[in-house]
Amino acid sequence: MELLIKHVLDTLAGLGHSERVALFSVQTAETGILAGGFNRGEFLPTGQIIHFTNTPLAEILETRKPATFNGILLDDILPFPSYSHQQTGFTCLCLPLISEESEGVIGIAVLAQEIGITQPDYQLQILGMLRTLIAAAMEKARLFQLATMDSLTGLYTRRYFDIRLHEEIVRLQRHGGDVSLILLDIDHFKRINDTYGHLHGDYILRGVAELLLNTTRRDIDIVSRYGGEEFIILLPHTGIEGAYVVAERIRQNCQDYPFKTPTEEACLITLSGGIATMNQVNLLNSEELIHRADLMLYAAKNSGRNQMMQYGLTSSL
Ligand code: GH3
Ligand code: MG
Ligand code: MG
Repeated sequence: MELLIKHVLDTLAGLGHSERVALFSVQTAETGILAGGFNRGEFLPTGQIIHFTNTPLAEILETRKPATFNGILLDDILPFPSYSHQQTGFTCLCLPLISEESEGVIGIAVLAQEIGITQPDYQLQILGMLRTLIAAAMEKARLFQLATMDSLTGLYTRRYFDIRLHEEIVRLQRHGGDVSLILLDIDHFKRINDTYGHLHGDYILRGVAELLLNTTRRDIDIVSRYGGEEFIILLPHTGIEGAYVVAERIRQNCQDYPFKTPTEEACLITLSGGIATMNQVNLLNSEELIHRADLMLYAAKNSGRNQMMQYGLTSSL
């Protein structure tokens, strides 16, 4: 999604001869989120909440037509349309991005343009066509994100994990190497919910997700929420020893993580885990590999929890 937005901003800036571009995704009739910004060659941080009420953007949402307004700068950098007549040296061309499916406005692109520079008709036409393509791409990216990202933790979903594991096994069959899995389960999580409530349980789940991301290789390992309080990590190019080192680091980090109770007291959370590895000599399918990790998780639970067990090393199963 991030890459897509960067491409969109780059293209709009180039075509619109604009040094400042902003892309807002529409959340409600009153608010949006800055999906991306481009200011003189630099991409701006995203996520800022923008209020549309009493701004020209509310009008764009209603009319669903491109329009130009006087421009102001939000936080000194973001181009934003204004009803004010105060001259700031530039105008903002606002392009609504309309979903083909719902026909609603899903986003608005804002391009700052110097006053006095008029755009040729053909360029406006290209921008018009482009906004249809951008809307379709943003909609697809959003649907993809919904299917592949768990909404509570931001981790990958089980569905995405299954696809990636399959791909990894096909790759391994052709090119060799190893692949490992770590299946994790929070110990006595039901007690957390029962003692502090479900919302607090959700906070713990988000914390565990964060520590898993911080303990694994970004852009290489696939960290997924496998079920309620279960997580699974796919470690490509990782053999049996490497996987154990990662699992132990996760276990230790979780035990040391400063989780709090709702009254801000320290709250100890531990994880049990099962590890399974395969390579070209020892080929398995996805189900068999997951099953081995699951057996080890079960063994870790039965041996007192807060431990990681590895198929083939710590067990004769
Ligand atoms: P064990 O050490 O054997 O794993 O014990 P446990 O209590 O963690 O295991 P159990 O399977 O009995 O309970 C899991 C709990 O996880 C029960 C369920 O309500 C809770 N849970 C599952 N999904 C969510 C969620 O999204 N949010 C919250 N707050 N709780 C969840
Ligand atoms: Mg469980
Ligand atoms: Mg559990």
